Amino acid sequence: MSVLVVIECANGEVKKSSLEAATYGSKVAQQMGTTATAVAIGDISEENLKHLGAQGIKKVLFDNDARLKNFVNLAYVKVIAAAAQKESSKVIILSNTNIGSAIGSRLAVRLSASLATNVVSLPEISGNTFKVKRGVYSGKAFADVNLTADVKIIAVKKNTIEVGHEAGEATVENFSASLTDADVAVAPKEVIQQTGDILLPEADIVVSGGRGLKGPENWHLVEDLAKALGAATACSKPVADVDWRPHHEHVGQTGITVSPNLYIAIGISGAIQHLAGVNSSKVIVVINKDPEAPFFKAADYGIVGDAFEVVPKLIEAAKNLR
Ligand code: FAD
Repeated sequence: MSVLVVIECANGEVKKSSLEAATYGSKVAQQMGTTATAVAIGDISEENLKHLGAQGIKKVLFDNDARLKNFVNLAYVKVIAAAAQKESSKVIILSNTNIGSAIGSRLAVRLSASLATNVVSLPEISGNTFKVKRGVYSGKAFADVNLTADVKIIAVKKNTIEVGHEAGEATVENFSASLTDADVAVAPKEVIQQTGDILLPEADIVVSGGRGLKGPENWHLVEDLAKALGAATACSKPVADVDWRPHHEHVGQTGITVSPNLYIAIGISGAIQHLAGVNSSKVIVVINKDPEAPFFKAADYGIVGDAFEVVPKLIEAAKNLR
């Protein structure tokens, strides 16, 4: 009766959010006196999956059906449900990503499970009840919820847990859920990668610009700082709305949620809708010429100053760090 961890992959690698979910799952397994098994689907090598041993995973069930190279919701849910049945898993751990959210709700219905998303704590286990803490109201508050169904699904918020680095490798077992053509009838035809080398939702460092940068002709400031730091670039909603930047860079309540280790906001006021997408970043640095800008209240470090003077100095300093 192992704990089952769902692994997401991108560009042939296990996503960082899944390394965190694997570490979380192993800790839950320890609490329960059992082991953690992972299920991985799609485009990844067995070699990379073995490394999940470092996060405490003992075994990986690997479905490398070519039809599942890209995310296919119904089929992925079927594979995960089959893996849970094989392992008699009553606890399933997901990452709180877009894919995790899509899987979680369908899986919960299929398995009549209790589901908690955006979870920020390990469970307190009492009999058949798991009590977990989850972020609510765009991270403004926390709620304690009890998972009482026989099967429990927990989607772990990014940056909730340090990725484990134990010795040892996981064993990888081929696994198939005998999918039919109907299971993959609704599948992406093509995946268009966002521009830039670093995927924004996975980035460790994000440099983000707002309307304070005045226009797209000044975006070299954001791009050069990002390049010097090895960061992804992002922007506020109005910036994407007026086409200064592409919409896939827009972060916030109506855009992408990011949880990097470092989020640098340049010329962004810090409206609540923007903060909703960035406030789980580990360290927030705000550069704004208005000392009263609301973003400073959410900042770990703030620089009151003109971006056109401050950012070139930061770029030079970042280049010298190498
Ligand atoms: P502004 O509010 O115009 O702020 C610009 C900032 O730049 C100011 O603080 C100013 O002091 C500073 N500045 C100006 N010049 C300089 C300079 N030279 N150097 C340094 N600083 C300077 N917004 C999002 O970002 N993401 C969302 O997902 C989102 N969803 C929304 C959903 C709804 C339903 C609604 C109603 C709004 C949403 N918004 C969202 C919009 C949000 O309310 C703000 O309007 C928006 O975030 C403001 O963007 P901004 O900070 O870039 O611009």
